[in-house]
Amino acid sequence: MGLLSDDEMAKLVRASAAVEPTPIPTQVISSDEFFPIPQTAKQKQVAARLNELGDEFGARNGLSRRRFFQTAAGMATAFVAMNDVYGPIYGASRAEASSVDLAAQMAQAMSGQFVMDVHTHFLRDDTRLKNFIQARETVGKAGWNPALAGKPQTLDDLKYPSWFKEVYLDSDTKVALISGSASEDPQDWFLTNEMKFDARAKINAASGTRRCLSHSIFTPGQPGWMERVEREIVELKPDSWKGYTVGDNTNKHLSRHPWRLDDEKLLYPFYEKISKAGQNIVCVHKGLYPPSTEQQFPHLTPYANVDDLGRAAKDWPGINFVVYHSAYRWTPGSNAHLGLKQFDATGRVEWTSDLSEIPEKFGVSNVYADLGQIFAQTTVIEPRLCAALMGMLVKGLGSDHVVWGTDAVWTGAPQWQIEALRRLEIPEDMQRKYGFKPLGAADGPIKTAIFGGNSAKMYKYDIKKAGLETDRLSTTKAAYLKDGADPSHLPYGYVLRG
Ligand SMILES: [Zn+2]
Repeated sequence: MGLLSDDEMAKLVRASAAVEPTPIPTQVISSDEFFPIPQTAKQKQVAARLNELGDEFGARNGLSRRRFFQTAAGMATAFVAMNDVYGPIYGASRAEASSVDLAAQMAQAMSGQFVMDVHTHFLRDDTRLKNFIQARETVGKAGWNPALAGKPQTLDDLKYPSWFKEVYLDSDTKVALISGSASEDPQDWFLTNEMKFDARAKINAASGTRRCLSHSIFTPGQPGWMERVEREIVELKPDSWKGYTVGDNTNKHLSRHPWRLDDEKLLYPFYEKISKAGQNIVCVHKGLYPPSTEQQFPHLTPYANVDDLGRAAKDWPGINFVVYHSAYRWTPGSNAHLGLKQFDATGRVEWTSDLSEIPEKFGVSNVYADLGQIFAQTTVIEPRLCAALMGMLVKGLGSDHVVWGTDAVWTGAPQWQIEALRRLEIPEDMQRKYGFKPLGAADGPIKTAIFGGNSAKMYKYDIKKAGLETDRLSTTKAAYLKDGADPSHLPYGYVLRG
């Protein structure tokens, strides 16, 4: 059983020829919860600077701008362009950016890093979640990306083959966890729990190693939910559980079963059940709930923040609670400036600060933060906000309680997010003012822990014994790279392969 059929591979490689991608997005991409936004003035500057440098450095290396952007030097150039506009936040030099050979050597030196992404998605083949298509059409019509205008939109880029390629082949990700989302309408689950289980089984059988983990989504209050949990503990053996306290996040207008983590009657029996089965990881979607969403669905707001987390964590010290999106509130990207404004005025950011304060307030050490969307929604638009969020999470939860997640493939291949964390440093003025510690080198202790060490510990994943360097997936990847990799660098929502 192959990881990708020849047909699937050919289609993917051919597909990306149609547009002119940049190594990092120069505007914020869309996700299931939000629509894309026009470029800010600063992003326009970044885009212009990036193209300028792309022409200059490309020519120096005898490459077209398009081809140059697909190289490691092209990626480094994107961060040089961001530093030029936002100030020195990312480790990237002109020397690295202007030399294809030097940048390739540097990228190669980091490529073996253990990156465990505990937050990835793809959509079932029969999905009818058209909001992704709508988002792309909006972008095309608005002319933000000329490549999109007048092109037929498709969901294929959000399905299994694309997910596999972008996560395992186009990025340094070594292990990925398949997540999902439930709905009151069974057809609108991103994937059923069985589909996640099947994909995990397929990948691990084909690679011969444990490359893939999967969530089971639990839905407290929905009819028959606990019976399903009982069955799935036995039949699906999920690596961890994930729930949405707002109930139905995809179709919020249908949401009839929101719940609280500290609901003794509803949730505590669930914690007890999974604990007895030897499972102890509960992931929960929090945040991504800006004022515009609150206006539409005010009754769900109390479920979107982390007010219910402290007591649950205290009552269940044996369970690790992983808060997805770090409860970051200020999506879409057009709201990032509000997040930064809030931080500059108060030193806090809703509701990530609330999350980071829980260990001290409740005397607990079983609360973790996932970074899904943090990088995607802040790195390219307000890098200082990204730095602030990292600073407060590491300070409040500890660098051993922050885990890597990207929400790929909503935001394309995750490599640009990996590069962003490798290169990100908290500006010195921010370190001094807020007592944030520097994040250090890409392969230093803090980033090593965040990229994979912390999740490996949580999931009892023995990195040394995993055999990833010599498994069939690594052979597939080596062949792919040798054939001339074709990284798509395509964050969905503003670009689309033809
Ligand atoms: Zn997600």
